[in-house]
Amino acid sequence: MRLIRVIEAARVGGMMRMMAVPPVKRFSHLPSMHAPFSLLSRQITMDAKNIASRLNSSGLLRTQGLLGAKWADAYDGKTIEVSNPATGEVIANVPCMGHKETNDAISSAHDAFDSWSKITAAERSKCLRKWYDLLISHKEELGQLITLEQGKPLKEALGEVSYGAGFIEFFAEEAKRVYGDIIPSTLADRRLFVLKQPVGVVGAITPWNFPLAMITRKVGPALACGCTVVVKPSELTPLTALAAAELALRAGIPPGVVNIVMGNAPEIGEALLASPQVRKITFTGSTAVGKKLMAGAAGTVKKVSLELGGNAPCIVFDDADLDVAVKGALAAKFRNSGQTCVCANRIIVQEGIYDKFANAFAKSVQNLQVGNGFSDGVAQGPLINEAAVQKVESFIQDAITKGAKVILGGKRHTLGMTFYEPTVVSDVKSEMLLSREEAFGPVAPLLRFKTEEEAIRIANDTNAGLAAYVFTNSIQRSWRVSEALEYGLVGINEGIISTEVAPFGGVKQSGLGREGSKYGIDEYLELKYVCLGNMNSN
Ligand code: ADP
Repeated sequence: MRLIRVIEAARVGGMMRMMAVPPVKRFSHLPSMHAPFSLLSRQITMDAKNIASRLNSSGLLRTQGLLGAKWADAYDGKTIEVSNPATGEVIANVPCMGHKETNDAISSAHDAFDSWSKITAAERSKCLRKWYDLLISHKEELGQLITLEQGKPLKEALGEVSYGAGFIEFFAEEAKRVYGDIIPSTLADRRLFVLKQPVGVVGAITPWNFPLAMITRKVGPALACGCTVVVKPSELTPLTALAAAELALRAGIPPGVVNIVMGNAPEIGEALLASPQVRKITFTGSTAVGKKLMAGAAGTVKKVSLELGGNAPCIVFDDADLDVAVKGALAAKFRNSGQTCVCANRIIVQEGIYDKFANAFAKSVQNLQVGNGFSDGVAQGPLINEAAVQKVESFIQDAITKGAKVILGGKRHTLGMTFYEPTVVSDVKSEMLLSREEAFGPVAPLLRFKTEEEAIRIANDTNAGLAAYVFTNSIQRSWRVSEALEYGLVGINEGIISTEVAPFGGVKQSGLGREGSKYGIDEYLELKYVCLGNMNSN
């Protein structure tokens, strides 16, 4: 199929024009060879024409990084293609930035810190509230942008906008509640105080699976308490981040408070880590990269928050309500086609309910419609890229070789691209890759257990510890098991539990720190003890 691209007129200084160019390879980190940079960097696919023109007319289709007040290209002109995973078409080209641009973004953030941290919390709160209002009033465009570059069904994408914007609203309110303490003094002529102050410039590195929400849950609390940020979104999904930054500027958040760089991830990471001006690194992504960042942050002793991989158990006890368990496990497993760090990675089912659950669950999975996230009724979009599909394939192959049975799906979808059939695998054992590692795809492994102790042992037998789910009708068991699970979040009889008002974060190698809730802001604050002495003198 010939790929027709529309050139974003506003950015090349003319009317909307169209040109035909041959398809270009996805995931290339090199500038495209097919047209001059100045044109290609502004491309939108024909498939996305309507969405693009709406985004364009609302000014939300930004294809440059944000360094202080300036929307900027990479200094050497290099770009990266951003593609639609459902079609393979190139949506836009964005700058491939590196350490120079990152250093300039850090300087902008550093310059802006002084005034942003000194205005009142009420003023920062107003800006954040305005940003929230703009995110919500542009919910549809942002949702479409998320589906376009990430692939998730539009309904889920719209849900992400509400959820993501919720962090900005919540922290707009929390901005006004950063209280210090007065400590009863040990000496009569002294008064002891604790001040809470913003840590400084924050480097925020985010993944592709929630192009908006992973940014707002970091930037919301950081800005609320007076920090400024350099955000590095995933190169696979930078457009949502850029649109959100545009709205931040429109909300009156001063230039330099939010900066966006993208491109050469290791180089940007190194620049953020090396700079003594960056006082905090907050990261969501793979455990491997998180460990590198944690080690790198040691050089300048930065504060670090990490939201890393999970290996979520979903335990279904014999006494569970079958419908509730099936519905909950389905939501926990297949949201975003299984591409979240809180997705149920192992469904651990007690032997008395195992067969009934497996049948009912497989039936529900069979009803999940696979397709382009813009089509009505689609519940499962494509996986993010070919590597993601190959990972799922290799995990399933490993399980089959070791004796597991595929009871539904188990292969690429006839739609091609990176679409994969929603899959259920039974008789999975602890030693299989499906059980040991995060599949990050639409495959549900079923494991069998006999006793509560065994379920807890299986669930905790991992280095990860982010989310866990439990289905039971016993209040005593739900408490017992929640307390025994080595996880940061536990859902009882619920498959989707994350909200901006509750703390989100993992234990063990799933990370450090918490996002969301009243605790989330602490990650961006320093405590300062102030002693007022000689209070008895006149
Ligand atoms: P995923 O597999 O989910 O993409 P990654 O950990 O690879 O997880 O990526 C999460 C984020 O970390 C992305 O923005 C990515 O570009 C960034 N990233 C990857 N490698 C590095 C690195 N060496 N230094 C800094 N950031 C990195």
